[in-house]
Amino acid sequence: MSGGTIHLHQHDLPADIDFGGSVAIDTETMGLDPRRDRLCLVQLSAGDGTAHLVQIIPPALGGKGTDCPNLKALLVNPSVTKIFHFARFDVAALYNALGVVTAPIICTKIASKLVRTYTDRHGLKDLARDMAGVDLSKQQQTSDWGSLELTPEQLAYAASDVLYLHTIWQKLEALLVRENRLDIAQAAYQFLPTLAKLDLLGYGDPDLFHH
Ligand code: MN
Repeated sequence: MSGGTIHLHQHDLPADIDFGGSVAIDTETMGLDPRRDRLCLVQLSAGDGTAHLVQIIPPALGGKGTDCPNLKALLVNPSVTKIFHFARFDVAALYNALGVVTAPIICTKIASKLVRTYTDRHGLKDLARDMAGVDLSKQQQTSDWGSLELTPEQLAYAASDVLYLHTIWQKLEALLVRENRLDIAQAAYQFLPTLAKLDLLGYGDPDLFHH
């Protein structure tokens, strides 16, 4: 696992952090159902080798819950593009937990599916290897993110999910341009908040467009 500088924050981002025009974001939750499983950690990176991790701690565990105004302001800031891998889940989890609709969004999984049509491997581990030359460990993926004391292994894993998204995105964007699919990618990104809301309403599987 390649490292980066990791800053762990409890409750919220510091007020003075500037991620520039685009920020890579990932979330860790108690499970795969954004309606059921609480948001535990939000990871962010400006693509500069540094990851900021925000631990969301419920009041019952001594935390401030979803009182995180700096994080919420960033999520809705129209001049900062948010880069996700499988944004559908993270946007639903963030909306369900924090009540804010993240925008504008880019999703590397959607981009990969639109241009890497020669493969069915669109996982972050696949993209990191093929587009950033990085071997990501997924060993901590299923660990207990609700723990108040996250392990160094968990923090490194969580950070690695955002540290390479800018590099991956730059490669995918070039392919979208080359294959003339940037417009349809952008239209798909713009629909993601609605898709996330539909998922939270229970229209996830089968989805609203299914026969
Ligand atoms: Mn992750």
